[in-house]
Amino acid sequence: MKEIFLLKLGEIVLKGGNRFSFENKLKTNINRRMRPFGNFDVSMVQSTVYVEPMDDDCDVDGAWEACHTIFGIVSVCRCRACEKNMDAVFETVMEYLSDDLACAKSFKVESKRSDKRFPMNSIQISQEIGGRIAEAMPEILVDVHHPDYVVNVEIRDKAAYVHGPAEPGAGGLPTGVGGRAAVLLSGGIDSPVAAYMIAKRGVEIECVHFFSYPYTSERAKDKVLELARLVTKYTGRMTVNIVGFTEIQEAIRDNCPEEYFTLIMRRFMMMISERIAKDHGCQCLVTGENLGQVASQTMEAMAVTGACVELPIFQPLIGLDKEEIVTVARRIGTLDTSILPYEDCCTVFTPKHPKTKPTKGQVDHACENLDFEGLIARALQNTELVKVRYYD
Ligand code: ATP
Ligand code: MG
Repeated sequence: MKEIFLLKLGEIVLKGGNRFSFENKLKTNINRRMRPFGNFDVSMVQSTVYVEPMDDDCDVDGAWEACHTIFGIVSVCRCRACEKNMDAVFETVMEYLSDDLACAKSFKVESKRSDKRFPMNSIQISQEIGGRIAEAMPEILVDVHHPDYVVNVEIRDKAAYVHGPAEPGAGGLPTGVGGRAAVLLSGGIDSPVAAYMIAKRGVEIECVHFFSYPYTSERAKDKVLELARLVTKYTGRMTVNIVGFTEIQEAIRDNCPEEYFTLIMRRFMMMISERIAKDHGCQCLVTGENLGQVASQTMEAMAVTGACVELPIFQPLIGLDKEEIVTVARRIGTLDTSILPYEDCCTVFTPKHPKTKPTKGQVDHACENLDFEGLIARALQNTELVKVRYYD
């Protein structure tokens, strides 16, 4: 019989009345995420999702890897299904797990019986299978308190399942149950991590990137698209809005006092992102800002740049240390791309002495010569939409 995956639901099971719609959303997401790997049947029983390859040409290893990146799942295990009798279960344990067992000094069997019509209870199942393993592999000790290895047997409605230890899933909530966000994505380390973190809470994301050709190169744009693609490993497909920002940056350079350049540029970023967010059904903006990291990330600076938009701005990294952010970036696989040395539009026309404690009045005054509406309208016209997905 085939290998199948059992995915256990996380927090979702706590969600009371919403549970049904959460589960449906998760099932739809899993179906969509399995599609690149062939024909899989996805079904849900008792807070467990069964993912079963239906054809011989399914890419089972690819699908298994993808299961680790689906939000809403706390643990994943790869198991072998067999008939619901002790001979079949024991034979399957020996075929499927004996290599792993042979590396362990001690083991125990843990059983679950959700098919209550099955004639043995879980203790009897564990004793029976444990006894047979001990007889077949006398060099491994039975240790029910601190075993090296746990053999799991689950007797469910359709079949019996045998598996080794479960692995951690992606956690979080199913993509789509938490609304939609527009993430301001730069080529740095922080914003891809911010995108991942907000997405983990069940939020669908769309990205906005500001691009100042020829001050920033095509390669810098490709880098950002690659970062977005890496994030879609967790979020599923997404759209990146690439906004031409050159005219705005030149207008700021030519018309505003230097110490306010970055603050005014960030105001434009927020205002343009808000327009895009509203057009695309997003209910908030998300940035990779982090308190105190750079001059534009003081409390005063963030208050001034945030004051020009109505949508809430969420900053999932606000209280993390750089090292903590880097650890997540490494784990989710964005770090190596983030540290490629291409410039970002934030590094164009950077003031020598940026204002770190601005007031709203000062910034309003510093940009009063700019035609905000005209500049924003032209930047929006000059926006390219690129769809990205991890598995193409
Ligand atoms: P990052 O590593 O994400 O670039 P950072 O520490 O370099 O962050 P800043 O460059 O000041 O910080 O940018 C703060 C936030 O503003 C970024 O995390 C991102 O959300 C947004 N941002 C900066 N530059 C751009 C850009 N070119 N396009 C879109 N968003 C940007
Ligand atoms: Mg940056």
